[in-house]
Amino acid sequence: MPKSKPGKVFLVGAGPGDPGLLTLKGARAIAAADVLVYDYLAAAPIVALAPPDCEKIYVGKKAGAHTLAQEDITQLLVRLAREGKRIVRLKGGDPFVFGRGGEEADELAAAGIPFEIVPGITSAIAAPAYAGIPLTHREHNTAFTIATGHEDPTKPESTLDYARLADPHQTLVFLMAMGNLAEIVGKLRERGLPGDRPVAIVREGTKPTQETLVGTLDTIVAQAQRTGIGAPAIVVIGDVVRLRERIRWFDVSPLFGKRVLITRPVHQAAEFAARLWEIGAEPIVAPTIAIGPPDDPSPAQRALEDVRLYDWIVFTSQNGVDAFFRELARISRDTRALGEASVAAIGPKTAQALRRHGVRPEFVPERFISEDVADGLLERTSPSDRILLFRAQEARDVLPERLRGRQRHVDVVAAYKTTLVHDDDFEEKVGRADIVTFTSASTVRGFVAALGAGLRAAVNGKTIACIGPVTADAAREAGLNVDLVAEEFTVEGLLETLERSPA
Ligand code: SAH
Repeated sequence: MPKSKPGKVFLVGAGPGDPGLLTLKGARAIAAADVLVYDYLAAAPIVALAPPDCEKIYVGKKAGAHTLAQEDITQLLVRLAREGKRIVRLKGGDPFVFGRGGEEADELAAAGIPFEIVPGITSAIAAPAYAGIPLTHREHNTAFTIATGHEDPTKPESTLDYARLADPHQTLVFLMAMGNLAEIVGKLRERGLPGDRPVAIVREGTKPTQETLVGTLDTIVAQAQRTGIGAPAIVVIGDVVRLRERIRWFDVSPLFGKRVLITRPVHQAAEFAARLWEIGAEPIVAPTIAIGPPDDPSPAQRALEDVRLYDWIVFTSQNGVDAFFRELARISRDTRALGEASVAAIGPKTAQALRRHGVRPEFVPERFISEDVADGLLERTSPSDRILLFRAQEARDVLPERLRGRQRHVDVVAAYKTTLVHDDDFEEKVGRADIVTFTSASTVRGFVAALGAGLRAAVNGKTIACIGPVTADAAREAGLNVDLVAEEFTVEGLLETLERSPA
């Protein structure tokens, strides 16, 4: 049944590629969308902001098939809006910069459909910025022009005024110019721009695949032919291009362009992936494990009923914290159930997860391994103290054994279980990676199980990086050559180690 109230269309600029360049307003609109309509290969983290039940409609080019015609897209938006839906129409860069957003807004207005425009960061500005080219600079220019290099082919002749574009005091930025590069360069030369005027072509700007070619009006066409650089790219013409030599920053970061495999569970991959994007690396999310309920949940449930009886409660991972509070909520209780018990967290992320529930752990060891947790707990407890260990079903026994060896009363309960998973395209993802990361021994187990006999060949020539010594030992036991082990046993620490010796 169509609702009487019309929906609303949000024309949202997704930015040029780096998902971090989406605006907060754009992110909010996507998070509240009933339908997401997009026509280019939007970065996965942006599409992932849509709620799980949001309908996602891809209207772009697929191999062999054609793009939906512009009129069909507009009709689709109008039809969905009339059904009362909140629609996000996601567009690359900024919707009003050569994105046909103006046409879509015009038709929505004509159809009486409410809409909002959420501007985005256009590639015209972002791609040069990520190449180290400021579009303005006091010493070089007083204006810049953003132009299309690909005009409507039905127009009889160019409406671009090359005489004005050939002004030496302005920077020119051409979008969609790769097909007509020789023609554009020729016309600018004819109108008097000097042959030694610097030119940069920036392809896939802001992405780990960013490429930049620098030359002059005289050389750039041959250079482009020789290197085969193609769309999507912007062409920047002007003296500001010279500044790149001094202020390029993105494509010199040590992990720039590296493809990094993330094997941790999908719900924990997002933050790691976002950090990789920030440093110019391409995350490949290929989980080898997933977290689920333990085979027998009753010991955890019983422990929670009696949680006040413990002197200490120890959490060895975020998953344990999540499981604890989920169970607590299930029996209609809250943080107060902890009473006077002291709390230990094995690492900063576990501690952070606890703090989110209003619990400040009394003890977080400096090194995040079981041995150090055991020693720290022994210092803080006396014999016969009761300790509850809330952890993975398959966890190692080092911690409880050390504690029991010194007469602590330890109850170990399985809070969750790690299962091995294996995506269909797992081998292909591993094949593309330069660096394989393991953030726990179970991610190693999942990886090894997924690849089976193909393990050796699959990792040949790749850098293997582990979050800490326990994970590294598991990898070595599985027959892998560990190249790097983080000094601080967190994802952040792993990234720092990788940045120091990227491959
Ligand atoms: N609305 C978009 C432009 C759409 S037209 C924006 O504001 O960015 C498509 C053209 O944009 C491409 O042909 C290319 O010239 C440019 N473009 C888009 N993304 C780009 C990127 N990441 N790097 C370089 N150029 C890009």
